[in-house]
Amino acid sequence: MELIILGCHSATPRENHHTTSQILLFKKHYFMIDCGEGTQIQLRKAKINFSRINHIFISHLHGDHFYGLIGLISSFRLLGRKKSLHIFGPKGIKKIIISQLKASSSWTNYPLIFSELSSLKSEILYEDEIVSVKTIPLNHRIYTNGFLFKSNGKEEKSYAFCSDTMYDENIIELIKYTDLLYHDSTFLDVDKDLAKKTKHSTTIQAATIAQKARVKKLVLGHYSSRYNKKMKFLEEAKSVFSDSYLSEDLKRFLF
Ligand SMILES: [Zn+2]
Ligand SMILES: [Zn+2]
Repeated sequence: MELIILGCHSATPRENHHTTSQILLFKKHYFMIDCGEGTQIQLRKAKINFSRINHIFISHLHGDHFYGLIGLISSFRLLGRKKSLHIFGPKGIKKIIISQLKASSSWTNYPLIFSELSSLKSEILYEDEIVSVKTIPLNHRIYTNGFLFKSNGKEEKSYAFCSDTMYDENIIELIKYTDLLYHDSTFLDVDKDLAKKTKHSTTIQAATIAQKARVKKLVLGHYSSRYNKKMKFLEEAKSVFSDSYLSEDLKRFLF
């Protein structure tokens, strides 16, 4: 599996700071996870062919996780897409996208298939002979899911995306022994009260989840713009869980 970080910053997009979006590459699949503003530009920079993307998983309806979606859907049409596009996301996402398309009197020339989510329990979203995808119910200000990708077959690989969320030990069982965990680490430890108030996590909390779930590697992200340097995030996380890594826009993790 290869994880390509397109954006890993919270709240507002800034120069060289893109909001959440990732591609998980596994065999023939290019799974997109979240689609913040500017995702299309980041796809171009990462040299990812748009037509390879057939499944998009949206964690929640905060703007920094899906405001790029309507633009991407429109570009697919301009690029002459014919294949279906599957979008998995919280209940309400279909209405938002369809009303935007209707307001501009545009439509897609390819099937747009929505799977709207509302369950508070983990559920399987996708399964084929090589991979399965299930939700990880998260604890955030609005209805939010993380996603767990697991290979089927001999060579077992797994990836867990958990953002945005506050510290929640309920996810540990689901993500146990995962090869790579991306976990909300919006704040440094000094701002843990703010993390609690906004239902996000700190570096220490992300690392504690990684340690308790015995994952192989932790990737930090969803950084708040209040901090200038990222090294402190890494130092704090490593004090709890040594196999911690910083995400950066356009960084790739092979595992
Ligand atoms: Zn966010
Ligand atoms: Zn959020």
